[in-house]
Amino acid sequence: MTSNTPIALVTGASSGIGEATAKRLEQAGYKVYGTSRRGAQAAQGTIRMLALDVTNDTSVAAAVSELIRLEGHIDLLVNNAGIGIAPAGAEESSIEQAQALFDTNFFGLMRMTRAVLPHMRRQGSGRIINIGSILGVVPMPYIALYAASKHAVEGYSEALDHELRTRGIRVAVIEPAFTKTAFEANTIEPDATLDEYRSVRARLTQVFSQSMASADDPDVVARVVLKAARAARPKLRYPAGVAAGRLSLLRAFAPAGILDAGIRKNLQLNN
Ligand code: NDP
Repeated sequence: MTSNTPIALVTGASSGIGEATAKRLEQAGYKVYGTSRRGAQAAQGTIRMLALDVTNDTSVAAAVSELIRLEGHIDLLVNNAGIGIAPAGAEESSIEQAQALFDTNFFGLMRMTRAVLPHMRRQGSGRIINIGSILGVVPMPYIALYAASKHAVEGYSEALDHELRTRGIRVAVIEPAFTKTAFEANTIEPDATLDEYRSVRARLTQVFSQSMASADDPDVVARVVLKAARAARPKLRYPAGVAAGRLSLLRAFAPAGILDAGIRKNLQLNN
């Protein structure tokens, strides 16, 4: 292995989009380190796994130090680790639950970014690819907290890309729509449920499950990550898959009322 081999770190590579991305990058010639809270126990094929909990400062520092000890540099960070929350009214989660969601989906990504940046700045090069969501562009009702966490990812990424491009570092956000992974099984349940929302919760759980059944394969997202990783002049935003592309265009060009009505129709919200 030559020292010219690009080194990639993919958080949450034990399943779904992270696993597919790690494999796709490896096929493309990267030396890939994945992560899981279970560490090496979660090893997938030839991908080397580091133990990492993105909500824990010490764990983040240890994982990045270990990578640098082994390889001396890092060329690509894919911030993929994330969790969802089952459809529910925005007021059906406690503040503590909302903070826990942000701790993984936003502050986790920020912790990782802060840990790799000193190395990338020293190198004068690097790329950070954040797995956002099309819900970070088009918020959906009854999934407000998750949408908010992914909007935070969008805002942070755009600002960061402005800051870092003169230092040889670029930042991009990938925006998948429904993707067939363990995501749904790993969603957290709202912890402050109200009877008021019982029926809409049940209905939307069904709508989302149906959408998941015909969702994109995680490799659809992985291919877009690779494209963003290799682009000589990367874009800031990459919708991944047909549905995400369509929503992104609607957000940019359709009158707000049309998008609003389309969302309600799609989610079978009649009033
Ligand atoms: P999965 O549940 O299959 O994978 C999630 C990954 O995140 C796992 O590898 C898990 O690793 C890791 N993870 C979760 N919490 C932590 C934590 N605290 N610290 C470190 N790793 C953690 O879901 P997906 O592959 O679908 O999700 C990947 C990303 O894609 C997420 O950011 C999600 O928001 C985003 N996304 C998913 C969509 C979908 O429909 N599936 C659509 C749009 C975006 P382990 O448990 O082994 O530690």
